[in-house]
This record gives sequence, structure tokens and C-alpha cells, in this order.
Amino acid sequence: MAKMYYEKDCDLNLLKGKKIAIIGYGSQGHAHALNLRDSGLDVVVGLRENSSRVKEATDAGLKVMNIAEAAKWGDIIMILINDEVQADVYNKDILPNLSKGNALAFAHGFNIRYKQIVVPEGIDVFMAAPKGPGHTVRSCYKAGKGVPCLVAIEQNATGNALSLALAYIAGIGGAKAGIMETTFNDETETDLFGEQCVLCGGVVDLMQCGFEVLVESGYEPENAYFECIHELKLIVDLINKGGIQAMNYSISDTAEFGEYVSGERVIPHEETKERMKKVLADIKNGSFAERWIAENKTNGRKFFNSMREKLKDHQMEIIGKELRENMIWGKDTNLDTASN
Ligand code: NAD
Ligand code: MG
Repeated sequence: MAKMYYEKDCDLNLLKGKKIAIIGYGSQGHAHALNLRDSGLDVVVGLRENSSRVKEATDAGLKVMNIAEAAKWGDIIMILINDEVQADVYNKDILPNLSKGNALAFAHGFNIRYKQIVVPEGIDVFMAAPKGPGHTVRSCYKAGKGVPCLVAIEQNATGNALSLALAYIAGIGGAKAGIMETTFNDETETDLFGEQCVLCGGVVDLMQCGFEVLVESGYEPENAYFECIHELKLIVDLINKGGIQAMNYSISDTAEFGEYVSGERVIPHEETKERMKKVLADIKNGSFAERWIAENKTNGRKFFNSMREKLKDHQMEIIGKELRENMIWGKDTNLDTASN
């Protein structure tokens, strides 16, 4: 069983008087910076001088510096830029500005696990990884809730890294939901596995197959979108609230019977598990990471961009956009998901 921490285990006061530099102002960056600031802490955002996010962060009332200045200023430096550019930015702007006793923090373990970033002795290295999208980290905080987080310690130079990490997570709201202790290794491997096999890779392919089968069988694409894509959120919300049994309670007995009869026909259990184990093996032996690094460094993102383009043109995306825009709240592009 994993060790869990909650608000009673976290002391936000450990961060009073500490300077927190948040590098990057994207999905996670804006959420961490604003939540910590609203928790009464001293926050600066580190951005490239020409970044379009400078105005966004400044308009939100945050102080902005360039990345090197922010790293120098900060006692705690949280890296929230894209995983694939972190190593270059770290070597150029962050490493030269680290001083003994600083803490370097991550929201995902990729660069530490695959040794793209190697931190010198004397620096704490911790992870504060929300198990949810950045926009939800912000919207949950505003709603007085939080997104569950993982905490991990890679280097404990000060002897205080865990308490510091827990305080940080309390500051972004995560302690309200629960903090699970893990390692950089396990967080990285399970995170990559989950997104590839279930959350993103698995689910998107399942929805796409369902949509295509209905359309190819002569049903309207609108119907296929509502059935196989739109409704997934409504179903998952029930699971999120009360588990699969709560979902089964809310759906009809006919639907539940169909679940038992056809689930296994579509996703053959043993075969799917064997395939998932192969994906996990590629994550563990580093070949997925190698491929992703090469895609960025040598392939110019050719494959990645071509897949993005292909998805843009898929009928499920085109029809979905049209249907969502016609919903009465359709013009609302805010990614706040805590309230619906
Ligand atoms: P993002 O793509 O939303 O934002 C990235 C930020 O980095 C932006 O401010 C961008 O301008 C900046 N940036 C990009 N390239 C840069 C460069 N070369 N130099 C300097 N700045 C650059 O990223 P994100 O999804 O918030 O991910 C940040 C970290 O959080 C990653 O480690 C990711 O794995 C982790 N994470 C993300 C989520 C999520 O919800 N998206 C969830 C858990 C963990
Ligand atoms: Mg410093």
C-alpha cells in the first residue's frame, strides 16, 4: 500500500519566506503560479523574453523574469515547460543559476528517469505531479477542492525535501484531494503507460473505432459523435464520482447487460493485457523515450505533426466541433471542468 498524505501532514509555513520560481506558464505553469500566489506565497514566473505568455502572466498580477533570472532568484525552481525542451533549457539557463540548498521540482519524471537532466549534489530534487490537467488544477483550487498529486524525492540534500514537497503540493491545492508517495521511476513509467494504453491512446482509438463503425454502417455522423464520443464524459463522470458500480446503477440494466456481454468481445482481456505489457516494456527499457527524443531532435517532429494534421481532418472532429458550437454553452472555450 502506498503512503498517503493529506492537509494535516503538510505545513504551508515551510514555504513562507521562500522564493518560488515557476518556469513556464502553460497548462500546469499558470495553475501552479496562481494557486501558490493565492495561497499567500512569493512567486515569480520565468519565461523567455519573447514569450506570448509574458502578458498573460503579468495581466494575472504575477511578476515575470527571464528564465535565468528566475532560476537565480528562486529557492525552489519548478520546471513546467514541455518535457522535450526541459534538458536544453535546464543546461543553458537553470543549472548555472542553482545554488546549494535550492530545490529543483518537476511535475513529471521523464527527464530524471531517462537521465536527460542530471542534477548536481547539494540540490533537493522533488516531484509534485498533479494527476490531472493544469486547467483543472486551477479550477479545482478556485472551487476549494484539489487534484490528487504524486510526491517523490530524487535527491534529499537538505534533509527536508519531503516536507518541502508536501508544503508545495498543499499550496497548489493537492493536499485537499490526497498525495501519494512514489518514486520518479514509478511516476514516469505509470504516467506514460496510463496515457498510452488507457487515457489517451486507448480511449481515443476506442472512440474513433466506434464512430467509424457507425458511420460506415450508414448511421448519421451526428448520432455517432453523440453516442461514441460526447457521452463518454457523462459516463466517466459517474465512474469518477462513485466507481463503475455507480455508473452501472445509473445506466439501464440493458446497458449493463451489454457491458458484460460485449466488453470482452471488443477488448479481449488476455490479448489486450499482453499488448499493454509490450507497451510497458518499451517504456521501461527506454525505447519509447528514445523514440520521442529522436522525434524532436532528429526527425523535426515529422511523424508527430502528420498525425496532428490527420486528426484535424477526421470527420469525428469536424462534426464534433460543429455540434459543440451549437450547444447553448458552446461559445465557452474555458477549460474549467470543475464546475460541470
Ligand atoms: P504546456 O505545453 O501547457 O506549457 C509549456 C510552457 O513552456 C509554455 O509556457 C511554453 O511557452 C513554454 N515553453 C515551450 N518551449 C519552451 C522553450 N524552448 N523554452 C522555454 N519555455 C518553453 O506544458 P504542460 O502540459 O503544462 O507541461 C509542463 C510539465 O507538466 C511537463 O513536465 C508535463 O509532463 C507536466 N504535466 C502536465 C500535465 C498537464 O496537465 N498538461 C499534467 C501533469 C504533469
Ligand atoms: Mg537559485
